Amino acid sequence: MMNQLLAPALIERLPSPQGVALAIMNACSRDDVSLAEVTQLVQTDPALSGRLLERANAALSGGRPVVAIPQAVSRLGLQSVKQMALCFSLIDQYSKGKCQQFDYAQFWSYSLLMGVSMSAFGAYQSLGSADELFTCGLLSQIGRLALATAYPQEYGKLLASGYSGAELLARERETLQVDHLYLARQMMLRWGMPMVLVEPLRWLEDPARTEDAVRSRAWEIGKTLYLAKCLADFGMARKAEQTQQVPALTELACHLGVTAEVLGERVDAVIAQWQSWAARVNVPTPAVLGFEQIAEDHATASKHSEAQWLRVLVVEDDPIVLNLLTSWLGEVCHHTVRAARNGQEALKVALEFAPHVVITDWRMPEMDGVALCKALRSSAWGLNIYVIMLTAADQESELVDAFDAGVDDYVSKPPNLRALTARLKGAWRYVKLRESSEQDAKRLTDLAAELALTNRRLQMAALTDPLTGLANRRAGLNALGQAWSAASRRTQPLTLISFDIDHFKLINDRLGHAAGDSVLQALAKTLGHACRREDTVCRWGGEEFLVISPNVGLHDGIRAAERLRKVIAELEIPFGDQRIQVRVSLGVAAWESAHGHQDELLSHVDEALYCAKEGGRNCLGVYQNGQVRIISGADLTP
Ligand code: GH3
Ligand code: MG
Ligand code: MG
Ligand code: MG
Repeated sequence: MMNQLLAPALIERLPSPQGVALAIMNACSRDDVSLAEVTQLVQTDPALSGRLLERANAALSGGRPVVAIPQAVSRLGLQSVKQMALCFSLIDQYSKGKCQQFDYAQFWSYSLLMGVSMSAFGAYQSLGSADELFTCGLLSQIGRLALATAYPQEYGKLLASGYSGAELLARERETLQVDHLYLARQMMLRWGMPMVLVEPLRWLEDPARTEDAVRSRAWEIGKTLYLAKCLADFGMARKAEQTQQVPALTELACHLGVTAEVLGERVDAVIAQWQSWAARVNVPTPAVLGFEQIAEDHATASKHSEAQWLRVLVVEDDPIVLNLLTSWLGEVCHHTVRAARNGQEALKVALEFAPHVVITDWRMPEMDGVALCKALRSSAWGLNIYVIMLTAADQESELVDAFDAGVDDYVSKPPNLRALTARLKGAWRYVKLRESSEQDAKRLTDLAAELALTNRRLQMAALTDPLTGLANRRAGLNALGQAWSAASRRTQPLTLISFDIDHFKLINDRLGHAAGDSVLQALAKTLGHACRREDTVCRWGGEEFLVISPNVGLHDGIRAAERLRKVIAELEIPFGDQRIQVRVSLGVAAWESAHGHQDELLSHVDEALYCAKEGGRNCLGVYQNGQVRIISGADLTP
């Protein structure tokens, strides 16, 4: 067990301030100390005077610069002056030492960066005076120097073994009965530092323990001190390592309410301040590229490597958690993020935002996370959204309810941002998979629709005469088949009119094939108007047509055929500057109960047409009861 008090033999060997700094510390420990007395002491040390002036001006934002020591002392206050004097005295006295494995210059460089970071980020969060925070950061590592000073041999061996972090602490306790963080706390208390700045050192090598600690000023200082330590590691690291440290640093900052953008600006300012401080106290610093540049490199690299972009809706009533998640997911992970403070609001936002992922808190006013999830799952558009539930420790047992409501995954609160990022990768894969299966399904539907259309077109093409647009012989046969079966089933009348252009060959011969085509087209158009809607008109062969008239008896069929003959005879078909006139011969035959097959009817109408041709053309041939006869126009006039 470690003693609360340090062994007197150890105390004697610890680093301690000397000269002016010691005098200032002694003076400040008296109740009746005055500013004037401390000012006088400071002025006896020109180096200290200069550094305090610089510190007083560094803390100054706007206003007139401080040029005189009394002004500097009163601006900084006795506490800060005392602590600065202590720090500078230590840096000067212990720039070298006996422990060979201990890099004194690097130690001070690292400690200075912790001090500057602590002061910048602590002040940003209003955790205390910038100077006090600076000292807290700077002295947080002092235990290492103390061990190197008190036990140069033994500590040198420990360092040579390459231990670090919590393991180094354990080895220190094992070998030297005290660890450097405990030692630092004791030394800081002995030097009169307030408890609230000393206590946070407890968590420095074990930051996870802050999760259990109650949120308090010490807790926030502890978190910030850990950020300062990570920044110091970052500042001392090589470029390749620095890029890798960016996500962890950004996450840490997010937890402290420092957005990625503010972090970038502040870190660059911190590095600049660190380098100017280090130069003044003769401590070397490595050259560091701008943090914003490094962070940008990291962002571009991760964007190119993964491009896992999602629309994410964060639903949370606690503004701290909401801010943390939106700034992490948006600024660091480059998702498109929207926020809502309860389920009701989330439903409205989701409707127009169409998120891929919803990350929702469980307990919220108005509508909680489970109700939100049920509402989403009850709609077609909400069915495919990936839902991640944030769960408090006491809700883990109720997770079954959440999964029943349709939750896909959960993350415990307070959210571990990198774990959440990993979960989002799962969500991303789900979204991509769903999108590609949706695309496949759509492609299939499109293909099916296209096929159906092509089929229809092919069918049409197979049944249509391309020149005239009329039904072709095949379509005519189909129509005849249907009309024939209707007629024979119900003994309904059915008449066929077949006609053929007279001396068509002459038109082709005299005027050319194109003229013949125009005649065929004009005739088709006229037939469309001259026949009934129930009739099927088809191009039966070259210049021969067939009209199938269901429900028409022979008598009416003859009248219709004569009407056709006349209409066609009266046509004047334009071709170039000519007008072409044609005549047709027609055959008419009607269904008779004696017919056994539709071909018989076809051959009868053929016979009738042949008869008309034989009988002089431009007339009707009629088949009736096994006889064919010619009917002239005169026979039909009433
Ligand atoms: P008839 O009065 O005896 O029917 O004499 P016709 O000249 O009309 O009969 P024929 O059977 O001797 O000639 C038919 C002509 O129709 C021969 C053929 O070149 C022509 N023909 C067939 N189909 C087409 C076509 O699509 N376009 C054109 N321009 N001519 C065609
Ligand atoms: Mg809540
Ligand atoms: Mg002909
Ligand atoms: Mg012919």
